[in-house]
Amino acid sequence: MTALARLIQRFKQLPGIGEKSAQRIARYILRIEHEDAARLSEAILEARSRTRTCRRCGNLTEDEFCEICKDPSRVQTEICVVEEAFDIPLIERAGAYQGLYHVLGGVLSPMEDVSADELRITELVERVKNEGTKEVILATSATTEGETTALYVAGQLKGMGIRVSRIARGIPVGADLGLADEVTISKAIRGRESLDSGERT
Ligand SMILES: [Zn+2]
Repeated sequence: MTALARLIQRFKQLPGIGEKSAQRIARYILRIEHEDAARLSEAILEARSRTRTCRRCGNLTEDEFCEICKDPSRVQTEICVVEEAFDIPLIERAGAYQGLYHVLGGVLSPMEDVSADELRITELVERVKNEGTKEVILATSATTEGETTALYVAGQLKGMGIRVSRIARGIPVGADLGLADEVTISKAIRGRESLDSGERT
């Protein structure tokens, strides 16, 4: 196999990239300067090796703690629970939320054999216990798995004396956060509905 064929093969392994797109990107690579090709591969390696997950919330960061956890101006008593770290910039861009986050690392899925102990749910419960949390907002997708996960997490937080809410239905049923625009996301957060409320003692 030639080097070019190998490159096309690699591109085809990327999400959303088929044969045609893989060829188009390869054609572009062959046209750029050697120096730019080196920068591109360096950027891939660097992002891969420097990026880690925040020890507290699971967001992506280059340090022990992420920018949001390190920011004292964030509301420390609210935690917004998301499926993936990539959901955080979407909610941040909408600008309707000032609290902290918690990344689950996926959703419960019997089909794909993802069980509760593979998600960062215990870590969330620990945080609520130790951080003086007053509200947890469940911002998982409006898919069946997202709803099931939200209900499960709410169940785990029951009786802890905090408000547990679910983002409102601005997000179309069956859609994940990545498909929603900023206005929809901020409406969904502002219009969140309480699943369990109680005063923390
Ligand atoms: Zn963090």
